[in-house]
Amino acid sequence: MAATRFTTQLLINGHSVAGEGRVEPILNPCTGELLCEVREASADQLRLAVDAASAAFPAWAALTPRDRSGYLFKIADAIEAHGDELAMLESLNCGKPLAAARNDEIPAIADVYRFFGGAIRNLSGPLAGEYLAGHTSMIRRDALGVVASIAPWNYPLMMAAWKLGPAIAMGNTVVLKPSENTPLTTLRFGELLAGILPPGVVNIVCGRGDSVGAPLIRDPRIRVASLTGDVSTGSKIMEAAARGIKRTHLELGGKAPVIVLDDADLGQVVEGLRTFGYYNAGQDCTAACRVYATEGIYEKLVADLSSAVSSIKVGSQQEPGVEMGPLISARQRDRVASFVDRAAQLAHTEVTAGGGTVGNKGFFYKPTVIAGALQEDEIVRSEVFGPVVSITRVKDAEQAVAWANDSEYGLSSSVWSSNVGSAMNIAARLQYGCTWVNTHFMLVSEMPHGGMKHSGYGKDMSVYALEDYSCARHIMVKH
Ligand code: NAD
Repeated sequence: MAATRFTTQLLINGHSVAGEGRVEPILNPCTGELLCEVREASADQLRLAVDAASAAFPAWAALTPRDRSGYLFKIADAIEAHGDELAMLESLNCGKPLAAARNDEIPAIADVYRFFGGAIRNLSGPLAGEYLAGHTSMIRRDALGVVASIAPWNYPLMMAAWKLGPAIAMGNTVVLKPSENTPLTTLRFGELLAGILPPGVVNIVCGRGDSVGAPLIRDPRIRVASLTGDVSTGSKIMEAAARGIKRTHLELGGKAPVIVLDDADLGQVVEGLRTFGYYNAGQDCTAACRVYATEGIYEKLVADLSSAVSSIKVGSQQEPGVEMGPLISARQRDRVASFVDRAAQLAHTEVTAGGGTVGNKGFFYKPTVIAGALQEDEIVRSEVFGPVVSITRVKDAEQAVAWANDSEYGLSSSVWSSNVGSAMNIAARLQYGCTWVNTHFMLVSEMPHGGMKHSGYGKDMSVYALEDYSCARHIMVKH
């Protein structure tokens, strides 16, 4: 690991350049040690990045879908060819198990670019025709211009793919800002992109939200502000976008309800929750973290899940058999700990697994189960973004649906039952962008991912993302 090379250069107009702004230390979350330092983009560099994206836009948008598709396929190939290196960087910077980064994330990231490379050649739309006598109308779908893409720290390269894939496939150009905590794979990816894309099509700037993200979005030439991040950040971006009448695409937080009915296969539920509640240390907007279990299965679920979760192997990136890494930062670990401490103080709750930090270095927190949580408890209502699952007893499916929907979040949800009819009935009534039945967390490039309510709007992946990064235009010809 000591020999890993870190790219710390930004990508502006096809050139690798050193940032000229403040210095950000980049840490290994497993040890808390410094990996390297990355300098933010200065105000001048931000302007140059938007200059480059603006200059590149007309020629990029004018390419045929086939030609843009060719570039996306080359990006997918480059990700696969550098898969080991990118996975190593991602796991070092995020603390996640190397095997998860290599085997789960890299293939999925390459697939996103391949999907959009194919989809852009196969868009469909309404018929052209005469809707006014003597005039023929047709609809075009065209790119919007320069997109500011702002990514979070949980899956840096994957979130970049979800943003870049549809935006550039559609003909937009992009200025991408990774999270200040996790820029390393994005910066290395930028070096690879410099050898693939025409200059300016994708530019990468680093820095914090207030010093780089906010001024980037304020630039009047930015036409779309696309964020994956916290609800409060989404709100700030909407305010900034309102002043400049910009489009926004917001993938915000989640607090996924998991409805477990008496007739669910207990073993399958426990295995599912053990995986999908704690994957990426629970730092996942779709994490299966808010369980509602009906009376007949509640006690067995608490017992079996608590025992299963206690066996999750927590450790550093390359420890044999490691299943879960640390949280991204000391701040995030302390935030998670404070949620659990407040929940544990309630008379009606019980911490039945975990509940505490691990070791004395790095930012580890034990995989935790909190049983007996009530609907009004903070642990049920607020996004923890850590390895913590709450279990709430419900009297029946009706109460489960009502409480699942009684949330400001609306990203993802799941229903577990051996009766397909009951599961479908519940799925139809849940106010979430996605509902899984007898599974959770499974994403595919062909299907849309995105929220309702405070979880935001706009879709990642699928042809719906191509719609979000484009505009339907009417062309009318008088005969
Ligand atoms: P965050 O909102 O703190 O940061 C996200 C990004 O926004 C970072 O790059 C940050 O620098 C930038 N930013 C912060 N303030 C800004 C501002 N005023 N203007 C412009 N940019 C600004 O979120 P995070 O802590 O990095 O990520 C965790 C959050 O992301 C969680 O709430 C999680 O649920 C959410 N998330 C959602 C999805 C989804 O698909 N819905 C996916 C992953 C993460």
